[in-house]
Amino acid sequence: MDCNILDTAFGKGKKLVVLGGGESGAGAALLGKKLGYEVFLSDRGILNDKYKRILMDEKIAFEEGGHSPDKIYAADLAVKSPGIPEDAEPVVNLRKKGIEVISEIEFAGRHSRAKMCCITGSNGKTTTTLLTHYILTRAGVDAGLAGNVGKSLAAQVAENAHSVYVVELSSFQLDDMFDFRADVAVLTNITPDHLDRYEHKYENYINAKFRILQNMTAENLFIYGWDSPDVTAKIKTIDVVPETAPFTYSADESCAARMDENMLEVRLDGRIFRIDADEISIKGRHNVYNAMCAVLICLRLGLSNEQIADGLRTFPQVEHRLEKFLTCDGVSYINDSKATNVDSAWYALDSMKTPVVWIAGGKDKGNDYSVLFDLVGRKVKALVCMGVDNQKLIDNFKSMCKIADTHSLEEAVRAARTFAEPGDTVLLSPCCASFDLFKSYEHRGEMFKQEVRKQCLGKNMENQAAI
Ligand code: ADP
Repeated sequence: MDCNILDTAFGKGKKLVVLGGGESGAGAALLGKKLGYEVFLSDRGILNDKYKRILMDEKIAFEEGGHSPDKIYAADLAVKSPGIPEDAEPVVNLRKKGIEVISEIEFAGRHSRAKMCCITGSNGKTTTTLLTHYILTRAGVDAGLAGNVGKSLAAQVAENAHSVYVVELSSFQLDDMFDFRADVAVLTNITPDHLDRYEHKYENYINAKFRILQNMTAENLFIYGWDSPDVTAKIKTIDVVPETAPFTYSADESCAARMDENMLEVRLDGRIFRIDADEISIKGRHNVYNAMCAVLICLRLGLSNEQIADGLRTFPQVEHRLEKFLTCDGVSYINDSKATNVDSAWYALDSMKTPVVWIAGGKDKGNDYSVLFDLVGRKVKALVCMGVDNQKLIDNFKSMCKIADTHSLEEAVRAARTFAEPGDTVLLSPCCASFDLFKSYEHRGEMFKQEVRKQCLGKNMENQAAI
């Protein structure tokens, strides 16, 4: 397919301002330059050397450590990075002045004819995106990986790199999308998250996620989680234009993807795909959901059943997401540091098949732990709290299991090791953001693996490649 609609005179005589100089901002600047805009990038913080070098090599003007009003408000068009909140001063003023503010994905979409497979939802975005991209590329499809994972979509569009893109979209990216159209869209599920960015109104967050539907036509496909009550409730209240493909963990035959005993069964475009859940490399109920989404996308893109099954069987596990990395003295260690909300920790605990020593805690985002009570009562023998303030966790779970109150990783791993016996699993699935003791969830996960390996040194250890 010819995806080249880059008109290098499109932006001639016009000024493009890019707010934020990370992966998406630098990518938008590159695309702007290619389209002939006079580009200016502005970041309140200090730019990463990698992006600074790209901008300098391309002779794109930029500033860091603050915003110059005269340059920013001279824009004809502004592209805002997803990390910048709506109430940031330059955004407020750009809007007041009537200057159009869009996301990097919107900007890229305006200049590409490639097929866009877009994935959003509260949980499962990254896994579904990576899995889909993996199956497609292994089958020889020229697919790019973009959005929250992978390289900026705008940068790839600037190079006319691919004919298909698998794009992970956060609600923040969807907020500033207007004309963008997904050819295939996935909404995995919706549970409360990021409410601080949505005036603490859950409805606003739900509406942001549903923006993925805008501009879709009857030829497009909308894949959504049938088991997510807040998704199905919203669908009942709106007009959904594209063809729909709901997926469920139940045997409900009205869904495009469903479970038949342990068999995952998907029907689309007159075809049937079936695979035993045990054959899929990534485990747990949530990963069955993610696999269903990936299968639906791949069927729509015309892959054969063999190609899809091959991808599902061989997909490598994703770091920090239920990552089983070590067995030591008969105890398995799992790093699920990416579980930063209650829902994702629920799926982690749900997928455990042994007694669990559960490490949780961090920066609480207003969590309601009651949905975990049943699982914790049945599976968790001890909870190791790891955070600056553990009181809420302790109050919620003290009647259900043994508790350790720790304030550092070293203490937490030590406590977990004293509780764990051969056959048990030590699971880090924190339910909380990482910012009280760590820089990010990646940092937390890496430090956890390091600390476990350190404390297990000299013991009977076995590294794990996949669950
Ligand atoms: P996201 O990109 O939406 O944050 P990830 O794929 O990175 O999603 O997974 C985040 C966390 O949620 C991990 O702890 C993972 O085990 C869990 N998870 C993954 N897929 C799902 C799903 N479909 N539903 C609920 N939780 C999930």
